[in-house]
Amino acid sequence: MAPRIVAPSKKALVCCNLSVLARRLLSSAPSPITAASVPVQLSGLQEKHIHDRSPPTFTAPRQASPLIDLDDPERLFSAVPTAKLIRSVGNLHVAAVGPVVDFGIWVMKSRMIMGTELAREALIGVVRRTFYEHFCGGEDTVEAAATVRRLNEAGLRGMLDYAVEDAEDNPSCDRNLDAFLQTVESTKSLPPGHVSFVVVKITAICPISLLRRLADLLRWQKKDSSFHLPWRHHSFPILSDSSPLYHTAKQPEPLTPDEEADLLLAQDRLRRIGARCEEYNIPLCIDAEYTAVQPAIDFFTYSSAAEHNRHEPVIYGTLQAYLKDARERLVLKSEAARKMGILLGVKLVRGAYMASEAKLAASMGYDSPIHNSIEETHDCYNDCASFMLERIAGGSGAVVLATHNVESGKLAAMKARDMGISGGNHRLEFAQLYGMADSFSFGLKNAGFRVSKYMPFGPVDQVMPYLLRRAEENRGLLSASTLDRQLMRKELWRRLKKAIV
Ligand SMILES: Cc1cc2nc3c(=O)[nH]c(=O)nc-3n(C[C@H](O)[C@H](O)[C@H](O)COP(=O)(O)OP(=O)(O)OC[C@H]3O[C@@H](n4cnc5c(N)ncnc54)[C@H](O)[C@@H]3O)c2cc1C
Repeated sequence: MAPRIVAPSKKALVCCNLSVLARRLLSSAPSPITAASVPVQLSGLQEKHIHDRSPPTFTAPRQASPLIDLDDPERLFSAVPTAKLIRSVGNLHVAAVGPVVDFGIWVMKSRMIMGTELAREALIGVVRRTFYEHFCGGEDTVEAAATVRRLNEAGLRGMLDYAVEDAEDNPSCDRNLDAFLQTVESTKSLPPGHVSFVVVKITAICPISLLRRLADLLRWQKKDSSFHLPWRHHSFPILSDSSPLYHTAKQPEPLTPDEEADLLLAQDRLRRIGARCEEYNIPLCIDAEYTAVQPAIDFFTYSSAAEHNRHEPVIYGTLQAYLKDARERLVLKSEAARKMGILLGVKLVRGAYMASEAKLAASMGYDSPIHNSIEETHDCYNDCASFMLERIAGGSGAVVLATHNVESGKLAAMKARDMGISGGNHRLEFAQLYGMADSFSFGLKNAGFRVSKYMPFGPVDQVMPYLLRRAEENRGLLSASTLDRQLMRKELWRRLKKAIV
């Protein structure tokens, strides 16, 4: 597929200026880490467009990628047993039938049904044998480890995500901390490299009300730089000039002594997880959430990165490319990391809270913080991926390209090849959700890249909200699973014909 070409928006050009500035900063003051660094392609690319007015595109690709071959289902699914293939096709087909999914979602959300012991047990039984088995790695660390082994036999790795929802208070944060520590611990039972990352949600180790307060305070400090935050010890940039600040309409009260104590507890939880990951040589990936709390999540992430990312990227934050301020923040963070002499680890996603972000902004009378068109999101994702690949080539960064978008994957693969980043380079990882985009994962793996499946695990009722989101995403004939369904069917048909002849 050819790279997407879109006319530059006014906003994109504003971003460009910032990027150009960042580029000049970087090229005028080379750091030891970036000594071999190539020009900042994100900005260089856009600087070019300011002058010649040709549309901004992803830089590197010169021709369609021969790297990722999705045309040969036999090769793609060679490691998948027929029984598993049949189950996957079945689950994905059921998920594509809109009314079935609607009914399933209604049932799962129904208090009446879920409140009746017998009905609830029956429903959980059905979910366990269908969607749960398809999208989750197991109920506990033992089952998750077995799933990771199976993934590894197929040439893939696992990102272990103990699925928990937001924590309201310190006791639930402590319970979640224990589960995260156990998850890190469980990687010891597996050969090195089977698990690529342990995933943590800050919303599970810091009470959500405190995260909101911290985000408010950080936003207010962005509005008024004289506003002092005694607990903010590092200078990692959290927000940029185009970040949404509308969530915080008036100056927030400083943290109370109790809130400060809770903040220290939450920081200590992350410190303990980070230290355990460093000890076990397993990178930690921190998920991104909605903009109301994301500044606080970034605050935790980069405090921790400043501590652990001196020699290797241990802590990875997540950047959502659907946000209008994503490019700017990435450049600012990269520059700050360079100055601090630490490595920048980023998981790059498009973002999962589109509807709720737009709704919240509209309810407050503001524009959505999300790009106005999907093409702008695609461009932003591809530019940020390009930028991070250049950081890898220069030795100053690491990236997880978390996407199901084949075009983005192909563009990144070509860029990596052109920059001499080998598939075995441990600072570049591709990732897809477990149970989704399997053909793409195998295509990337066959092209020689390191590929992970992001694998939630935990008791069935605990992962129900996650399953509802997956059901929603795969719903409809033209859903995210279309390509997989087609290729899997083709392969099953081939195997059937071979068995008959
Ligand atoms: C390994 C992994 C980890 C993830 N971790 C996180 C995380 O921590 N936080 C998080 O928020 N999400 C996370 N996600 C989900 C991710 O953000 C996306 O929701 C999902 O992967 C779809 O994006 P895609 O890159 O696969 O692209 P595609 O398959 O191309 O999906 C594109 C989707 O982007 C949406 N979209 C974005 N911008 C626009 C726009 N301007 N207009 C219209 N539609 C738009 C649409 O819903 C569209 O369907 C993760 C995904 C993966 C694979």
